[in-house]
Amino acid sequence: MPSFLVETVARRYEAIVERGILDRAAAYIPERAGTAFVVTTADVWRLYGERVDRALGARKHEVLFFAGGEERKRLDEVERLAAEMAARGGERSSMVVAFGGGIVTDVGGFLASVFMRGIPVLQIPTTLLAQVDAGIGGKTGVNLREGKNLIGTFHQPAAVLIDPGVLSTLAAREYTAGLFEVLKHGVIRSPELFRLMAGQPEAVRARAPEAVDRMIAESVRIKAEVVSADEREGDLRRILNFGHTVGHALEAETDYTRFLHGEAVAFGMCAAAHLGRLAGVCNAATCQAILDAVALYGPLPPLDGIAAGNLAARLRGDKKTVHGKVHFVLPVEIGAVRIVSGLDETMVLEAIQAALA
Ligand code: NAD
Repeated sequence: MPSFLVETVARRYEAIVERGILDRAAAYIPERAGTAFVVTTADVWRLYGERVDRALGARKHEVLFFAGGEERKRLDEVERLAAEMAARGGERSSMVVAFGGGIVTDVGGFLASVFMRGIPVLQIPTTLLAQVDAGIGGKTGVNLREGKNLIGTFHQPAAVLIDPGVLSTLAAREYTAGLFEVLKHGVIRSPELFRLMAGQPEAVRARAPEAVDRMIAESVRIKAEVVSADEREGDLRRILNFGHTVGHALEAETDYTRFLHGEAVAFGMCAAAHLGRLAGVCNAATCQAILDAVALYGPLPPLDGIAAGNLAARLRGDKKTVHGKVHFVLPVEIGAVRIVSGLDETMVLEAIQAALA
């Protein structure tokens, strides 16, 4: 049972990767806790609700349904969920169990962080993306019309329960999108993980349990390590944004409708690989290895009609731009990245053009 300790100033907790842990969820709800409010979506509950009901057994629990979807990840939904919690007996001793994809872990975590000024949350992520990324690290949030995740909190969970078995029901496109976040972890910090993904694409694509469990465990190890070193993204945590700078620009440019987050990150990783090569941060072989690995899990949705100049212009408005300077996480070699700022804009444009080509 691989278990990874996340140690932050606010809290110390485990992220556990184990098939079947869903059935033992009650063990992670403290004896003294009151009602557990399970925040989930109807599709996930249809698939796993009975199991969760059974797992929570005699523990008092209530289910709160959230419609899901990026457009519903909004403050008014949080208010509605909080009101429902209050009406159904929610109080200071209550706990939120966020059970679903990254949207649910973000919204459920945010709800827990503000309900009665903060109650604990147990994260049980059910998509690959949420298991390797969103569910761990305590970042919560909702969207504004003006941009994604512009309202949010840091609220570290009581624990993160990761059951790779639930991925068997995940839609192929969602699974693949999650694979790109796994690949990101390989590029930034784990040559071994990168080798697994580049070398065993059939097993990875077929969701072979051994490959899936290794990918998740290694990703969770990395995320736990990085968050423990830098909870608030002052420094090291920024490496997790590899591929995200240009990825966010692509998502925004296409109104968040054409690309799943992981797909946009895949494109962003290609742009970062080209930029790394052009800026002399990595060699051509490293750049090509990243492009080839992304291609193994492609193709990405068509990129036609997207102007490189528009993407470059959007970078300046990114939430992660500091004092007007765009910071890029660039590959040095597989397993190592460097944060670089102040790059020549024509070089950035050239890298984006190369990724679009
Ligand atoms: P999602 O939450 O929309 O889930 C994708 C779809 O899969 C949904 O329809 C969901 O209901 C369904 N689903 C979930 N689990 C399933 C299962 N086991 N079987 C079948 N269907 C299942 O999307 P996502 O990609 O998981 O998350 C995206 C969100 O995560 C974005 O809003 C992004 O901002 C956020 N995110 C947050 C962080 C963070 O650190 N907080 C990091 C990365 C991404």
